[in-house]
Amino acid sequence: MLYKDGKYLNVCGFKLCGIDFYGRLNQLYCESKCKQAHNNSKSSMVRKLANGSDLKIRKATRIVMDLFKPDNEGKSIIHKVELISRAFPFDLPTTKIKDDRYDGVMFCFGSFCFYQKGEYFIFYKI
Ligand SMILES: [Zn+2]
Repeated sequence: MLYKDGKYLNVCGFKLCGIDFYGRLNQLYCESKCKQAHNNSKSSMVRKLANGSDLKIRKATRIVMDLFKPDNEGKSIIHKVELISRAFPFDLPTTKIKDDRYDGVMFCFGSFCFYQKGEYFIFYKI
């Protein structure tokens, strides 16, 4: 660690700035402007991410609620084309689970889980 005139050489933590500067040992940003900019970009990124996945889950849930017609085993088989025609967001964030009803991994979102079998998607309510 370089040390000069009672100050330490740091690198500004704001990526778009990133300059070397002398300051306190634990000083992360060259100036408060950079600290603010870094925090703003971080929170807006998190917000964007959260909103995006939230929207996809809401959309997927709406579509499946519409199409979900359970048979006597509680499963609903929906053809891929049906989902595509309703612009189902196939890239929605899901949680993988193991369930007694299917000998494999199912993908969960909201109150549904599903697995794919060829051209068909098999949905269950959780
Ligand atoms: Zn800076």
